[in-house]
Amino acid sequence: MESVTEQSVIDSVPKGLLIGGEWRDADGGGKLAVDDPATGAVLTYVADASPADGRAALDAAAAAQHDWARTAPRDRAELLRAAYEQITARADEFALLMTMEMGKTLAESRGEAAYGAEFFRWFSEEAVRVSGRWSTAPNGATRLLTMKQPVGPTLMITPWNFPLAMGTRKIGPAIAAGCTMVVKPASQTPLSMLALADLLQGCGLPPGVLNVVTTSHSGAVMEPLIRDPRLRKLTFTGSTPVGRALMEQASEQILRVSMELGGNAPFLVFADADLDKAVDGAMLAKMRNIGEACTAANRFYVHESVAAEFSERLAARMGALRWGRGTDEGVDVGPLIDEKSREKVTALLDDAVAKGARVLTGGQPVDGPGWFFQPTVLSGVTADADVNREEIFGPVAPVRTFVTDEEAIRLANDTEYGLVAYLFTRDLTRALTVSEALEYGMVGVNQGVVSNPAAPFGGVKASGVGREGGAEGIEEYLETKYVGIAL
Ligand code: NAP
Repeated sequence: MESVTEQSVIDSVPKGLLIGGEWRDADGGGKLAVDDPATGAVLTYVADASPADGRAALDAAAAAQHDWARTAPRDRAELLRAAYEQITARADEFALLMTMEMGKTLAESRGEAAYGAEFFRWFSEEAVRVSGRWSTAPNGATRLLTMKQPVGPTLMITPWNFPLAMGTRKIGPAIAAGCTMVVKPASQTPLSMLALADLLQGCGLPPGVLNVVTTSHSGAVMEPLIRDPRLRKLTFTGSTPVGRALMEQASEQILRVSMELGGNAPFLVFADADLDKAVDGAMLAKMRNIGEACTAANRFYVHESVAAEFSERLAARMGALRWGRGTDEGVDVGPLIDEKSREKVTALLDDAVAKGARVLTGGQPVDGPGWFFQPTVLSGVTADADVNREEIFGPVAPVRTFVTDEEAIRLANDTEYGLVAYLFTRDLTRALTVSEALEYGMVGVNQGVVSNPAAPFGGVKASGVGREGGAEGIEEYLETKYVGIAL
């Protein structure tokens, strides 16, 4: 096998728009720069789509829908399986691409390649298990046939933090269900999605089933598609404010919507917790993806009897992390995505400190090229600190204390968000009663990661609607039709 280099991987990615099975330049020839967040250097340029390109992509998806819905589920399953095998075989290439455009370490990017590929394997297995129901009406007069059919052309908008997996967990079930799609990756990380689309074409995905539009004019290119009556579904992963605006636009055509939005995850450590496990879990829940994950632990609530020990141990682990370009040997933490993100992390930290928090380790942005920030632990965070309400999206762990279980639950639920909560305890009854009381779509018990293609990922409240993965994932791409039959 040829060796994988940064240049060879970038060269191998198509840089155009994928519309109707053809790679083409943007209407007007616009180009969009893709930067390396570790250096600020431009990696390459991709097509910068106009609204006319967006329309052409939806034309292609709408034209392909009829025939695609009628393909054999087994064929769609085999295609997904082949794509899973190929991503797995080419994991190093995908990992390098993700590290270059997004910043996380190669080890983390390899983890995302494996996680992202798993959605294709999972949904290849689900594709042939879609079923309906046959029943007799209570009055005995008619029969009720309940069937599932693909929703239809779907628009998928994905964020920069997981450039591959946020795509595969939408594309996998859409292929399995028989929906065509237009995908718009984040403008900061389009390369992984373009490489994925190329791979899917190579696996035999028919023209028009998957169309990819990269653009720096997201609003102008997406809104006309969302308001187009041919579109039947919008699935979005990104921030809550953008998700809110898109739901309003989606109301015009009464689209099916799935929204995977922001989080503000609480991380509860009870007095009886296994502290080794709690600190390991905290490192994962906080530092996975440089803290730039919707699932990132945002607020640590630790029982007052173990708070000092937990905070010191967490600070020692955080303080030992080495930051640097994610491609470099021995690096644990990559850069934040851009200057704006780093300014936000700095402002939240400064606000917490001004209101009384103490810095146990870190506490500063790092000088030099790239948008690095020191892994940081704060203790004594006060109730009025902004960090309690806002998503940090960076490597900062704010710790507060609690006394009773009721207080821990109240603090955990005191947010508009409801994506994921983590809790550490050895007491089974406490684990279950607290899990039931948490107003979250997901709960991690004695574990710092909940993401799993076989589980329904998603939130409640301002964290979104709908689920991705698990048995629920394919339902988001299926309509239920009932046929009443008089005998
Ligand atoms: P974002 O700013 O909301 O962007 C997400 C996507 O929406 C990007 O593709 C972006 O394109 C696009 N977009 C922005 N404005 C738009 C508009 N007016 N119309 C149509 N599309 C628009 O979010 P982000 O900063 O990329 O991602 C971080 C957020 O995602 C965090 O809040 C995180 O919690 C959330 N997230 C949630 C989940 C989950 O499963 N719940 C998973 C991952 C991330 P551009 O790139 O061109 O701006």
